[in-house]
Amino acid sequence: MTFLATSFLHKQALIDSLYIVAFSLFIFGLSRLTGPRTAVNGNKIAAVGMAIAVVATLLEPGVLDGSAPWLIALGLGLGTAVGIPAALNVKMTQMPQMVALFNGVGGGAVALIAWVEFRHGFQLGPHAGGDWPLRVEIPSLFAAIVGSVSFWGSNIAFGKLQEILPGKPIKLPGQSVINAVLLAICTITAIILCAGTHSQVLFFFGILVAAAVLGNMVVLPIGGADMPVVISLLNAFTGLSAAATGVALNNTALIVAGMIVGASGSILTNLMAKAMNRSVPAIIAGGFGGAVAAPVGAAGQDGGTVRSTSAQDVAIQLSYARLVVIAPGYGMAVAQAQHAVRELERALEAKGVEVKYAIHPVAGRMPGHMNVLLAEADVPYDLLREMDDINPEFSRTDVTLVIGANDVTNPAAKNEPGSPIYGMPILEVDKSKAVIVLKRSMASGFAGIDNPLFYGPKTELLFGDAKASVSAITSEVQAL
Ligand code: NDP
Repeated sequence: MTFLATSFLHKQALIDSLYIVAFSLFIFGLSRLTGPRTAVNGNKIAAVGMAIAVVATLLEPGVLDGSAPWLIALGLGLGTAVGIPAALNVKMTQMPQMVALFNGVGGGAVALIAWVEFRHGFQLGPHAGGDWPLRVEIPSLFAAIVGSVSFWGSNIAFGKLQEILPGKPIKLPGQSVINAVLLAICTITAIILCAGTHSQVLFFFGILVAAAVLGNMVVLPIGGADMPVVISLLNAFTGLSAAATGVALNNTALIVAGMIVGASGSILTNLMAKAMNRSVPAIIAGGFGGAVAAPVGAAGQDGGTVRSTSAQDVAIQLSYARLVVIAPGYGMAVAQAQHAVRELERALEAKGVEVKYAIHPVAGRMPGHMNVLLAEADVPYDLLREMDDINPEFSRTDVTLVIGANDVTNPAAKNEPGSPIYGMPILEVDKSKAVIVLKRSMASGFAGIDNPLFYGPKTELLFGDAKASVSAITSEVQAL
């Protein structure tokens, strides 16, 4: 008996130690994500931490009882078979959709765990009949609501980013009231269940369904340009619900991992909302950033015309400039033009031109998208300037080269109070002495709105794929 108790204590001590190692690695890995150079390594360290946490969980008493090992092996096999090819094949520009899907799966898993806990608590387990301890019941119900909202909301975000659903806001009359009613249904039903007077399955299902509708309703009205903030917010939700599940299951690793995701997601949400001059409640109230695309053509809204240019002319302008600022955007990512851009930068520097990169916080399709791409092309980090640092420099910039960026340079965000992106800080490229925009057509960007920059008197457009255009300019620069 004493031997059994001692070996149990030893095993528990081993499990606890493994958990401590696991979440120390999570935190260390996270701290390495602060710069592109150390980020890959940080990811690997956190992944090792997760592997250790999985082993520790498998060592928990009762986890491998009965048919559980087979089910766990099946789950691991299926997850690996789907996850590895998906992660290997996803394009960099599709990463936000991937993040939205992974996030949704996390929220869905948490809601399912809450359902299993409910069945154990109320129907099958030692507390069958309604005597579910509140310290397990409250976090489980919280996890069910938030996990379900996150699962369904993430699916809608995925649909919008993948362009399966329209990017523009889809809004019902009285949307905010409907959302408030749905939230009230979830909360009141959870309180009724906690009061212990009812243990019906229907009540629990009611919570899951109301939270599912709420998840859809919250994300459908959010359009285009605000999607990055939404993904980050849903990520924070999943983290919080996972932490609540950790409380219910008494699993320290889940609490720590969930809180790290919840806290970092909340901080990122706030930073991004601030960078876009939005408040999080205003984004959730919906309707921003997704106006229907204005018809665009060779003539702008106010009758301005577009001037197109050639690679040769651009090369001459750039070669005789003192300061050139490159403003990259989503189009550079699609064209995979980052290496060609680095070549151009080198060719210009060889001619004594100073080159800087202007980085908007939401350029591309995920936070830090441009930093990652430019780091991949070995662009020196000290040439990168954040929006607030580069904006005062545009007035002394001879030429700004806008490469596949659109919304993040749109002056309507400053000048047109009726614009859906009004108030969002932009790269003030229109202040530079000359602007050259590289894009393929007059199509709009993610927010689906026209860009007056293209019709400005100082602007010229070089039409074509960004990589081909940049390479053509570089050849011309080198030939001069
Ligand atoms: P935009 O989506 O506004 O514009 C991209 C431009 O690139 C388009 O106008 C397109 O024009 C051009 N383009 C596309 N493919 C190519 C190509 N192969 N070669 C040359 N040009 C190309 O991008 P921005 O980076 O300016 O702005 C990002 C937008 O995405 C913002 O609205 C932001 O809110 C949103 N967003 C950002 C996320 C983030 O976390 N960073 C996540 C989700 C959304 P054309 O078709 O004519 O070539």
